[in-house]
Amino acid sequence: MLPVVALVGRPNVGKSTLFNRLTRTRDALVADFPGLTRDRKYGQANYDGYQFIVIDTAGVHGDEEGIDAEMAAQSLRAIDEADVVLFMVDARDGITAADMGIATHLRRLGKKAYVVANKIDGIDSNAARADFFELGLGDVHGIAAAHGRGVEQLLQECFDPLVDEYPGVVARRSTTGDEVVNLDAEGNLVNAEGEIVEPDADGNVYDINGNVVDADGNIIDHEGNIIGQLGDRSHDEIDYDTLPLKLAIVGRPNVGKSTLTNRILGEERVVVYDMPGTTRDSVYIPMERDGRQYILIDTAGVRRRGRIDESIEKFSVIKTLQAIEDANVVIAVIDARETVSDQDLNLIGFALNAGRSIVIAVNKWDGLSHDHREEIKRELDRRLGFVDFARLHFISALHGSGVGNLFESVLEAYASASARVGTAKLTRILETAVEDHQPPLVSGRRVKLKYAHAGGYNPPRIIIHGNQVESLPGSYKRYLMNYFRKSLGVMGTPIKIEFRESV
Ligand code: GDP
Ligand code: GDP
Repeated sequence: MLPVVALVGRPNVGKSTLFNRLTRTRDALVADFPGLTRDRKYGQANYDGYQFIVIDTAGVHGDEEGIDAEMAAQSLRAIDEADVVLFMVDARDGITAADMGIATHLRRLGKKAYVVANKIDGIDSNAARADFFELGLGDVHGIAAAHGRGVEQLLQECFDPLVDEYPGVVARRSTTGDEVVNLDAEGNLVNAEGEIVEPDADGNVYDINGNVVDADGNIIDHEGNIIGQLGDRSHDEIDYDTLPLKLAIVGRPNVGKSTLTNRILGEERVVVYDMPGTTRDSVYIPMERDGRQYILIDTAGVRRRGRIDESIEKFSVIKTLQAIEDANVVIAVIDARETVSDQDLNLIGFALNAGRSIVIAVNKWDGLSHDHREEIKRELDRRLGFVDFARLHFISALHGSGVGNLFESVLEAYASASARVGTAKLTRILETAVEDHQPPLVSGRRVKLKYAHAGGYNPPRIIIHGNQVESLPGSYKRYLMNYFRKSLGVMGTPIKIEFRESV
């Protein structure tokens, strides 16, 4: 589970600016589901080793009545979902009536809130901060969201008290920003460059997933279990076939998630697990299929047949994001009878950004005419081009057709994500890719790509070393990505490629 942070404050104090800095993207999931207010954006932050979900609320307006109305409408909901609230104020404006109003609400709610005075660049930050002690919410943190100043200290303040609750997630990476990928011949923990990684202040080093790595190269998860070892050799020792595969079924309300979950589990188990989830927590259901263990992450809340108390309130973006985050493979369910919405695409995009393997289930395929089906397929081709490496299944959760075949693709995607590929093979693929299609000239010199090695699995990461790699255009990077994907036969899982400048 990732911690959840909500940004609240009146308009123009810099919430979006901080949101964009934390998520390093303008892509966000917007809660535009029917019945929900439009103005909450959800993003995944991975900032300086801190991972969390961040919610940007639309501004709360100035007048007293307005504050109540707006807070109730959406900020309250975001605050409710959050572990930490960052209450942003404008250091240049000083305290306003609206700030006081919001502070009163936050005090009443009793949620941990940090006052963040933004825009301290170019002003006397101590004087500016002092002004806001009057809000009565304790210490005031000065930042400049636009430049990043103070953001790291702020996150440290917020997250240090959460470490017990979210140990691995808020684990700091090493101070050098390095991630250990291997033990070298002398037994040193080294990064992708082969340089020794220095421990952080807590004496820890971390792998690419933020797990602690001990001196013997064991990878330790949040609960203190050894889940693997560093390096190619040791990756073989992780037996992916015996680990339960965590499978999340996600999608907008009413696409058929519950029906699909019921179908997969079989009716009699449904009653057993028919328990209400909270707004944030999915239900985790262990199951076995063809001798393999799975944990089904049910975001819909399995309901008994005939009890359809739809659907708006039971849907939670946070729940969906947490489920994706926790899964090995995501089944994204789309309703064939509705046009593909931006929200469908956003959910898929989020899963890909999180590095999750993905299978797309186009549900409610029953009872459609041939022409209608062809039309739907054309639309899917057009809109799902960005995820053309994911298998598409046309299913009817209601009647069961196509549901069994989903599992072949789930296993294929999982195998792709965890497959081990050695340096020699990756470098050979890189060489043929470059032979087939040379990198461009940059100010008369050709970008040189020298060798490639694995930087991690789940999702597969490939690190390419070369000269002037910064100048490689996006089109060439995409070419390489596709080339690796085809050569390795990777299906259903995003590949991440990173470039490193050789010295
Ligand atoms: P929101 O309405 O709270 O989401 O505020 P925005 O993020 O849209 O920011 C409002 C304005 O403040 C924009 O013009 C930003 O460029 C500006 N701004 C945001 N952060 C900073 C900062 O750290 N320093 C300064 N000087 N301006 C900032
Ligand atoms: P959820 O909100 O995503 O969990 O969706 P539900 O599973 O509750 O399904 C929403 C509605 O779609 C219900 O009325 C289902 O009976 C219907 N439905 C689900 N799957 C199918 C399907 O494969 N075909 C048809 N025709 N209807 C379906």
